[in-house]
Amino acid sequence: LVSRKAHPENTVVNINGETVGDGVQRFVMGPCAVESYEQVREVALALKEHGLTLMRGGAYKPRTSPYDFQGLGVEGLKILRQVADELELSVITEIVTPQDVELALDYVDVIQVGARNMQNFELLKTVGTVKKPVLLKRGLSATISEFINAAEYIMAGGNDQIILCERGIRTYERATRNTLDISAVPILKKETHLPVAVDVTHSTGRRDLLLPTAKAALAIGADLVMAEVHPDPAVALSDSLQQMDIPQFHDFMNELNAFKERL
Ligand code: PEP
Ligand code: MN
Repeated sequence: LVSRKAHPENTVVNINGETVGDGVQRFVMGPCAVESYEQVREVALALKEHGLTLMRGGAYKPRTSPYDFQGLGVEGLKILRQVADELELSVITEIVTPQDVELALDYVDVIQVGARNMQNFELLKTVGTVKKPVLLKRGLSATISEFINAAEYIMAGGNDQIILCERGIRTYERATRNTLDISAVPILKKETHLPVAVDVTHSTGRRDLLLPTAKAALAIGADLVMAEVHPDPAVALSDSLQQMDIPQFHDFMNELNAFKERL
């Protein structure tokens, strides 16, 4: 179902009227994790200054260590919804279990399936049955073919509103947290009809590489660029090395908007 052969036209994902996959390149930005109402609101106000409408933020954090901050859970979903309603933004957030999908529908505009859950087939089947767009991240060690098959699980349930997100893969290289597989973007666009996002934060794990990799993503034709922004990354409860602070976020957006003009 996700194959370009079966469906030659691009799928356009509609998020409260904002479209992804129609040729306009968009951004989804926000903190790694929801920490408080004030923190989310501060980032959201910065997004508004650039006319952005898609805000990310994790309420359920799939952390490598069980002793690391696990997210605020439902409280985090409520904070995201409150800020989004106050500022007319859409919320993209990760849901990690099939049981939480129904609850999330009340708070979330796009359900994110994280890299660690790309092959959580019960979760894929569940998000396949709902009427909300899904942002599906590539697994840490998933091939492109496995990634496409994961999207097929969602679409087989009846949900065709899927955005594929390249977020870096595990390789021998340690200079970056993961290796951004930039060629996955044109391959996914060739082989499927779905919009493709690039998450520059989790692929590089390095704040100094966010701008150049975002430029590469735009130049190669990504429909959406994801990156993390935090009011004070030094004290962030997760991903403190790779989130931008707000002044860096403003520079990032200004540079990328100028870069888009030149493409
Ligand atoms: C995230 O986007 O919050 C996240 C945890 O990313 P990933 O699943 O790509 O590691
Ligand atoms: Mn993160």
